[in-house]
Amino acid sequence: MLVRLGNARVMIDCGADWLDHQKRVNPTAIVITHAHADHAAGLAKGAACPVHATEETWALLQRYPVPHRKHICHREPFSIDTVSFEAFPVEHSLLAPAVGYRVTSGRVAFFYVPDLASIRERHEALSGVALYIGDGATVVRSMVRRRDHSEIGHAPIAKQLRWCQEEGVARAIFTHCGSEIVRSDARVVGARVRKLGHEHGVDARVADDGLTLTLDHGIAIS
Ligand SMILES: [Zn+2]
Ligand SMILES: [Zn+2]
Repeated sequence: MLVRLGNARVMIDCGADWLDHQKRVNPTAIVITHAHADHAAGLAKGAACPVHATEETWALLQRYPVPHRKHICHREPFSIDTVSFEAFPVEHSLLAPAVGYRVTSGRVAFFYVPDLASIRERHEALSGVALYIGDGATVVRSMVRRRDHSEIGHAPIAKQLRWCQEEGVARAIFTHCGSEIVRSDARVVGARVRKLGHEHGVDARVADDGLTLTLDHGIAIS
């Protein structure tokens, strides 16, 4: 995903698909949610710009030749140009601890979390955001498993819509779609997600490739 504001072009996650295509995106910064290959392996040949990730994620990406490593901490906002990012720890993987980002520009904020089973500080993460961009692994079937005191895997869209409803988030987009969604008829799944959203008072949709959104304050997401 790419967040654009003024001259800033911030890429959130850089999966294996981007390994030879980073130049095309030409990001001014990259921010990583977790070390799974579909989110970070695009850095395997390095990056020309600063890359932001948590200590836990960097520990797993040690071998990547990334010269400009920025270490970020949970719940400590940092700025890239005029855009502020705050990492919230999410349950998803024990081996590759993940975060979601609350991204703020002026008075508009959105939350981006491509992989998660749950958000620990959900209220702080989602209250007041204009848009939730979430995990499209499944629509209603849960892919969450319990390990000790943690949840791992993927929360279904239906559950994420409940969180949005509870936190008053009016709009949601689901990305990074799993096989359940990818293999189905896009119109059927789209209608199902819209209907589920409607039941929760949320304007919900499935992201299609090339989707570009402009939020207030001139911030564009694609
Ligand atoms: Zn993952
Ligand atoms: Zn993933």
